[in-house]
Amino acid sequence: MDLHAIVSETWASLADERGSGNPARYIPALALVDPAKFGIALATPDGEVYCAGDADEAFSIQSISKVFALSLALEREGAALWDAVGREPSGDPFNSIVQLEREKGIPRNPFINSGAIVTTDRFIGERSPDQSVEDLLVRLRRMGRDEKIGFNEEVARSESETGSRNRSLAYFLADFGRLINPVEDVLSVYFRQCALTMSCRQLAKSALFLAFDGTDPVTGQQMCSASRARRINALMLLCGHYDNSGQFAFEVGFPGKSGVGGGILASVPGRAAIAVWSPGLNRAGTSLLGAKALSEIALRTGWSVFSGGRASS
Ligand code: GLN
Repeated sequence: MDLHAIVSETWASLADERGSGNPARYIPALALVDPAKFGIALATPDGEVYCAGDADEAFSIQSISKVFALSLALEREGAALWDAVGREPSGDPFNSIVQLEREKGIPRNPFINSGAIVTTDRFIGERSPDQSVEDLLVRLRRMGRDEKIGFNEEVARSESETGSRNRSLAYFLADFGRLINPVEDVLSVYFRQCALTMSCRQLAKSALFLAFDGTDPVTGQQMCSASRARRINALMLLCGHYDNSGQFAFEVGFPGKSGVGGGILASVPGRAAIAVWSPGLNRAGTSLLGAKALSEIALRTGWSVFSGGRASS
């Protein structure tokens, strides 16, 4: 299969649609990004990364970080994490608060904001907020094999200044006794985690372990157990795009995680990790062009987890 052609032709076939969708504006610093950006990177286990467009430009990964935070929280906390956060799709927007009261402060899953705030709290454990962010960076740089991975303080500050909704979720969780650390400590890590900046190339390389049973096939480093990787993929498929997860499974068929910065990270079990970026979003906060690009790649490779491997053009 000519993956180089598939990636570059997918990019070219959608290039005229750059700028479609609506970039997130509720975090003011995100609204400053050029809406015409569009990148694709597809990493394979032989170490190859097939790229097109703005694949080497770092952007705000936002909720894609929840995948890495989940993997690290599971590493610290083990299966006990599941006492604090569920594993069911919510069918509600990412920042919804409605289920939390009815379900006594147990978020439906680790990818909606309330669930991610709990996950971040458990990832912090007994460390200081700054140490936790540092540890997250060290881990991501190792996974992405790139020391340049960092976070954008301006985006983190901008989100904190306008973060009333996330503060409400966190204080609500605290009221139910669901957080171990002080609310503002948890949020300071959560906002910085969301403000991590990575390129499509770095993201795709960092996520190969999810597609290969927890071990990065390029370096041989084990990031998590095979069963954990399988379960993170399952959660990405069912909850990775909030109330748009069904549509994403229908159109694309890869476990994926979107972020309001316009990135989507997809894991294709046994084959590849793919990252796409285009800032314009649909109403659920998933990149419009990014989802189209992944759908095209799924079609052309026959890699949808729901298909038998036959590619169509
Ligand atoms: N940082 C964003 C928030 O908490 C992440 C949301 C997202 O990417 N869906 O609102």
